[in-house]
Amino acid sequence: MHSHTPNFTIIVNWKQKGFGCSKVCSYCNWRTSPLLPHGAQSEQAISNFIKQCNKSFITISGGGDPLYRFEENRHDLERMASIIKAHGFKVRVITREVQHVAQLRGIADYVSISLDQEIFTEIDRYKDQWLGMDIEYSLVLPSLPEQELNALKPQYMGIRSKLGGRLALRENFNSVHSINPACMSFGHSGIVFVPKKLCLESRYLSKVEGNGYSIVQDHAALAHRLMHHSHIYIFGGFAKHLVSPTNHLEYDDIDIIATDSSVLTSLTEEFAYTFKETSPAGSYPRYFIGTSTRAGKSIQLILMANAYDAHTFIFNAQYALDRFGYNQGFFFDPSVGEQTIRNAVIHKTAHSIPGPRAMHLFSTDRSQIESRHKLKLIKKGYSVIEFAPSVSV
Ligand code: SF4
Repeated sequence: MHSHTPNFTIIVNWKQKGFGCSKVCSYCNWRTSPLLPHGAQSEQAISNFIKQCNKSFITISGGGDPLYRFEENRHDLERMASIIKAHGFKVRVITREVQHVAQLRGIADYVSISLDQEIFTEIDRYKDQWLGMDIEYSLVLPSLPEQELNALKPQYMGIRSKLGGRLALRENFNSVHSINPACMSFGHSGIVFVPKKLCLESRYLSKVEGNGYSIVQDHAALAHRLMHHSHIYIFGGFAKHLVSPTNHLEYDDIDIIATDSSVLTSLTEEFAYTFKETSPAGSYPRYFIGTSTRAGKSIQLILMANAYDAHTFIFNAQYALDRFGYNQGFFFDPSVGEQTIRNAVIHKTAHSIPGPRAMHLFSTDRSQIESRHKLKLIKKGYSVIEFAPSVSV
């Protein structure tokens, strides 16, 4: 249900240095955010923030997990909760540290347990300790198009009936697909869909105060920009996700080739990226790493002179499944063929292409990059088939 009154959330990260969470969720973008707070926020900052809230509760959430190393950080959490209560608000905590949830009795009024496979199997171990507590469960949806999410609805109903509590299905911030909330309705309040728009319109206190749009990247808007720009060529893991989201659910950094330097400026202005050049002065092409102040994916950008070089770079990749890209539409290496490449992507089969390759646009450490790429593919469960040693030209 859409609410015009924004939620207020305090982002915590108890670690003075680094990231205070013992999990490694694939979709978590906070770990590297420059807006991640370190240590407890001041009473003044918390009070100033929550005074603006028109809801009855304030949420304490990650960043890192609010119950990370609970005994060590309990005092700071209790202090934050008592400031919130002193202003007349209830306290809601979002966590994945199920072993400590019972200790939130008297600290939090509502607890939201963020589920994953591991947590789901642990619930039964602790559930008896939570009698009388107001607990709900939340699950981040996979980055899938609406039709695929719809097909998963029976599974979510099964999860809900096993848990026996309210289940919130949260739209993934990394998702590039648009979802009509009505399609994710279950017809009752036992399972609710939480669109990311709701979170993006909410207010947050992290290192700074702002709305969701200013501190979290909306990857749908970013993808739309990248996919419709005539000077941008998407390749790598993000391109695979676009071809087959079901088989390539997650993507890491976003790899693009830009054929005009204005791309860097527009990504800076529209999506708060800062680009740092990583290639030696005077070299061609030029390599950049882009990080945004909004929690989200980094962009690996290669600046090239023209479309011919962009195609040459992509069509000489190590394996057939990488020889395609997206520039206002998909394009495929004609020497391999669209169907062969699509099949390789869908079936996660990396096969090399016999014969010479044009290597002049690759960096000098390309052989190390390709060895690492091969290892990464094997670790991710791809079949790697080397037909013949590749020859450079
Ligand atoms: S549990 Fe939360 S804070 Fe920790 S890695 Fe996962 S999403 Fe990030």
